[in-house]
Amino acid sequence: MGSELVIFWFRNDLRLGDNLALVEACGAAGRVLPVYCHDPAAEASTRWGFARRGPHRRALLAAALADLDQTLRARESRLLQLRGVPGAVLPALARALGAERVVCEAIAAPEEEDEVAALRAAGLRVKTVWQSSLLDPAGLPFAVAHLPKVFTAFRQVVESAGVLPAAPLAAPEALPPCPPLASLDEALIAGCGDRSEPVVEAGAERFEEASFPWWQPAFAGGERAALAHVARYFAGDLPRHYKATRNGLSGVDFSSKLSPWLAQGALSPRVALAALRRHEAEQGASDGTYWLWFELLWRDYFRFLHLQHGRRLYRARGLNEEAPMPAHDPAAFAAWCEGRTGHAFIDGGMRELAATGWLSNRMRQVVASYLIYDLGCDWRAGAAWFEAQLVDYDVYSNQGNWLYIAGRGTDPRGGRRFDPDKQAATYDADGAYRARWAEPGRRAGD
Ligand code: FAD
Repeated sequence: MGSELVIFWFRNDLRLGDNLALVEACGAAGRVLPVYCHDPAAEASTRWGFARRGPHRRALLAAALADLDQTLRARESRLLQLRGVPGAVLPALARALGAERVVCEAIAAPEEEDEVAALRAAGLRVKTVWQSSLLDPAGLPFAVAHLPKVFTAFRQVVESAGVLPAAPLAAPEALPPCPPLASLDEALIAGCGDRSEPVVEAGAERFEEASFPWWQPAFAGGERAALAHVARYFAGDLPRHYKATRNGLSGVDFSSKLSPWLAQGALSPRVALAALRRHEAEQGASDGTYWLWFELLWRDYFRFLHLQHGRRLYRARGLNEEAPMPAHDPAAFAAWCEGRTGHAFIDGGMRELAATGWLSNRMRQVVASYLIYDLGCDWRAGAAWFEAQLVDYDVYSNQGNWLYIAGRGTDPRGGRRFDPDKQAATYDADGAYRARWAEPGRRAGD
């Protein structure tokens, strides 16, 4: 081990366990400085007119960073939080400390790739490590450029070839020491402490029926809460019933609720799968446990789609050259965001989302379809609203699901329209969901 100082840049991998990029950074360096960048762009307005990262996501992120700092400090390291565009603050930090190398996870989305390109343009050596999928893309029975066009074909090839993920890596017991930071320019590190919002307290009182109550310790951001949740979820028989309950709309137990931790990288999918396999060994495999694996494969599919198509997934037409350019109606879009379209089921969903940062998979499909097919709006505006609001916002899964519903992904069957009346009759037959979230005269948050 040399004396080289390496900057380890945490991105959507806010954990120490099963973090291949971190292992890579620690292996070669004499000193490692763990860093997180708060890019002001996350708080700036999008082209659609709202802040890019809303209060729920900010609070969950703050909890995850606080947790990460504590686990690093237990290993005599620490998390340095910087405020600024990574392409500017990381080179400035490197210059101040005499570092030349940055190691981080690879993210195959355009803006995240541009961030890495900016570091390289500033003269840094950057090593990126792919680690956010369950399966290693290099271990698939096809080159990622030949990813099957439909999910079912992908799953069948994976299953028939018996592709399995590697076992998760243990968290390092010790990290190479941090360099002294006393000489750092205060301006570089100012204002990056706990950035959670007062909504944490307000939410706790108002939305006790939230399906992901992120203000409660059991649902807090960060690796320790993630591992505790995984242990709790897989200890009981909820996984066995997952297939039957997964289309539920409300409650903490109808689906696994792994997604917020997977999205921030506090939980690695390989750790989640290992817990699922342990559960099967102890309590038996079932339709429910198979379906959890099935859904984790969907998550991978959208990641591999990004590796295959990259920026093309971000065009208005997506991958569908024949699709018309999306129409847009700003007033209808604003009504959708605020839950005042006049359709109680849709409004209930949109108010739940704005109030809690959570929406079930079923409601995500229904409201996305309504925006595109009933209100005639641009699917990219909807994706941006979800990005701002969802506590489990994940660039790959969000983009992939919106493209799929809009008929602009790889699926040759075209888009998916969900009839909102039929959906309400099937999934909210007693009207309890609409009564809870879209009661006349009651706005979420009242
Ligand atoms: P479970 O039902 O318990 O599933 C277990 C895990 O499988 C999930 O945690 C997730 O990692 C994965 N998974 C399940 N369904 C999907 C799916 N359709 N696509 C990809 N992975 C899936 N998921 C996100 O994590 N982040 C997003 O930003 C996101 N945006 C979405 C946007 C739209 C329009 C739609 C229709 C779906 C979106 N999803 C997104 C997928 C899905 O709704 C969530 O992953 C799921 O509801 C999370 O709840 P859970 O962890 O309880 O999932």
